[in-house]
Amino acid sequence: MTVIAQIRKAAQALRPDPDFAAALACRWAGLPETARTPGQVLGRHAVGCEGTHGVFPQCNLACTPCYHSRDANQVRVDGPHTLAQITAQMALLREQRGPRAHAQLIGGEVSLLDPDDHAAALQVMRDHGREPMSFTHGDFGYDYLERLVLGPDGRPRLRRVSFAAHFDSLMFGRRGLARAPDEASLNPYRARFAAMFARLRREHKVRYFLAHNMTVTPANLGQVAAVVRDCRGMGYGMFSFQPAAFVGDERRWHEDYQQVTGDQVWAQIERGAGATLDYRVFEHGDVRCNRAAYGFWAGDRWYPLLDGADPRDLAVRDAFFRYLGPVSFTGSPAPALAGQLTLITARHPQILLLAAGWAARTARRVGLRRLATHRAHLVSYVMHQFMDAADVQPAWELMQRGQTSADPRVRATQERLAACHYAMAHPENGTLVPACVQHSVLDPDENAALRTLLPIPQVPRRQAAEPVPDGRAAR
Ligand code: SF4
Repeated sequence: MTVIAQIRKAAQALRPDPDFAAALACRWAGLPETARTPGQVLGRHAVGCEGTHGVFPQCNLACTPCYHSRDANQVRVDGPHTLAQITAQMALLREQRGPRAHAQLIGGEVSLLDPDDHAAALQVMRDHGREPMSFTHGDFGYDYLERLVLGPDGRPRLRRVSFAAHFDSLMFGRRGLARAPDEASLNPYRARFAAMFARLRREHKVRYFLAHNMTVTPANLGQVAAVVRDCRGMGYGMFSFQPAAFVGDERRWHEDYQQVTGDQVWAQIERGAGATLDYRVFEHGDVRCNRAAYGFWAGDRWYPLLDGADPRDLAVRDAFFRYLGPVSFTGSPAPALAGQLTLITARHPQILLLAAGWAARTARRVGLRRLATHRAHLVSYVMHQFMDAADVQPAWELMQRGQTSADPRVRATQERLAACHYAMAHPENGTLVPACVQHSVLDPDENAALRTLLPIPQVPRRQAAEPVPDGRAAR
């Protein structure tokens, strides 16, 4: 590379990516009116979340409910298939949604992938501008994590990993606790999982981000607040709660999930946090699908980063969108990010005044004494509410024909699908679909075809693994 080309490249790194800015503008233009709210993040700072599908559908724990179709567990985990599919799906997401996004490596259980295939999958996602997060039930050991992050030479091949670990008492087959009697009994497992990453950073200097997922049904709704309280300091940066929906394998629908509303789940999260969590400050798509509150714990109290009742904090949010919206905070090299922020601040020095005012207000809210005696740590709370397959199917069919339903319930489903935050790619026909559509409409046929393409090798009866509840094979 010539010196001129090097200077040009360095100068480019100091500006937010114009392709990303264009992708944001396109995303905003495609949002329905119902989602164009002052707090809307889509189109201002992100294009939304993405997820893989059909790349490793199998899982070796059992959940009630399970969002995967009944054939998912009959599909062999196959590294070459996984990598080929992820490459094709990421290429389409890159082409249609622009150069940067967060993407979930999700399907069945990610730790059933060979660690080399898992590491290669993460690299493919990064090569396509995606910041990957691996989705797991968390029932694997430190040895798997080490084999994932270290290359054949024993040195880290991954400098940063993100995992979302699903722990709740509706899952069966976890080693050491095949049937959790309640959420509290899972806390040592939650802590143990997070501790593996602290050890990984200590021993190999690999950075990490951890999210905690939990499905909520009438059976564990009353335990959400305790999970929020008890697990706040374990090392998870995000807790996501998913009210259960009637989607996926109907053999695993064991309760009346409609008894649990989003408002009830959110109220439980607030009870655990001991604070009101304003989910309109930042919105991700439609608030009937997603709620999020960003903040931090200082001692035994949670504080929002921005107070939605204070117009000065809302002005900070608006300035963030205006000046820093197209900046990628994750995935950008630190020097480039620092350079971008410095240049933007030099052009818009009012950012410094806004930031100073916000810092002073936040310190006053928390109290200097508390700030001095407790290490503040960021923890955000999220709720994602999938929709029932019975609602998604008719709504999607009409949308495919360009029709809006006259039925208020179907129309509400259509509005949510139109503002969907969570997309999955179909390279075979060049389309992107909401994850609700994937799980409600497309998964059954897809997994039936994969079952033929990637059959599970037949194990002689004598050597068959011990079954765990719901007929899944134990590891
Ligand atoms: S996947 Fe479904 S519930 Fe989630 S954001 Fe998209 S439409 Fe809403």
